[in-house]
Amino acid sequence: MILAVSNLKNPSSPPDGYRGRFAPSPTGPLHAGSLVAALGSWLDARKNKGKWLLRIEDIDTPRTIPGADQQIQAQLLACGLCWDEELTYQSKRQELYQNALEHLGQLKLLYPCTCSRQTIATTLAKLGIQTPRNQEMVYPGTCRPTVLGLQSLDVFDSPTVSVRLALPENCHIEFEDLRLGSQGQDLNQEVGDFVLRRSDGLFTYQLAVVVDDAHQGITHIVRGEDLLSNTARQMHLQNVLGYHAPQYRHLPLVLDEHGEKLSKQTLATQIHTEDAKQSLVELRKAAIHLGLSNLPDSENITIAEWLLAATQAWKSA
Ligand code: GLU
Ligand code: ZN
Repeated sequence: MILAVSNLKNPSSPPDGYRGRFAPSPTGPLHAGSLVAALGSWLDARKNKGKWLLRIEDIDTPRTIPGADQQIQAQLLACGLCWDEELTYQSKRQELYQNALEHLGQLKLLYPCTCSRQTIATTLAKLGIQTPRNQEMVYPGTCRPTVLGLQSLDVFDSPTVSVRLALPENCHIEFEDLRLGSQGQDLNQEVGDFVLRRSDGLFTYQLAVVVDDAHQGITHIVRGEDLLSNTARQMHLQNVLGYHAPQYRHLPLVLDEHGEKLSKQTLATQIHTEDAKQSLVELRKAAIHLGLSNLPDSENITIAEWLLAATQAWKSA
């Protein structure tokens, strides 16, 4: 099999040196929140003399905005945040996700699900389970067969069927976040069997991110705290797929004046990187957010000089 992807590593063995990444979804240009994730992950990689990869997570095609990937690249370069190795696009890596899914099918860990969001909501209501605002519904296991069998992926090939991963009975995942310390999640209680391929045929973020991080040999995942609640799911998937486990550092979120996280939905404005002066203003704001203090505030410093000082100030331990 020939894969049209670069920087492919052996997903089961941890690579030698530090390999980090920034993995934006191209749903719009970078805003203050995404710059914090970009800068934090870049500094951590540079401080550790590692590689920093850029991966465009355009797996959710309906949400992808044409041209946003180009804007993101231009903004990163304007901020001096250059990436190592060839840029990758998830849309070009479908074969890897398909292979991983087939592997899980052979392990008898998959089953088809025909529930709509509405059916799940109704079932949960009947069970007296309430879902707090902003939280995903826990899947109540409606379609889970009593005995999991070997599922050829053909049975999933009806367009209205999603593919779920069956969790083991005890699935409490614990990990040490490099910034937040000890974390844990009971996947059965808090998430339920989760979707790996949606009913529209698209692979989910959970599957794609885990497959890519493993195949790209990522050792350190530095990203926004909004993604913390996905980590246990991703670690469980790494486990069942036999991948090496990366380390995680979740960075503080940038909130707007209403205390909501910045996102395209809250119409977060894009950062200004039209000239070096503006880029430096944005970088300085991001650095303050990351808790970096005493960085040079001179008007006449270049971005490269400022980044060097920021790298020295970054505490990755
Ligand atoms: N593509 C995801 C996002 O932009 C980030 C994925 C990750 O860093 O794990 O929210
Ligand atoms: Zn179902």
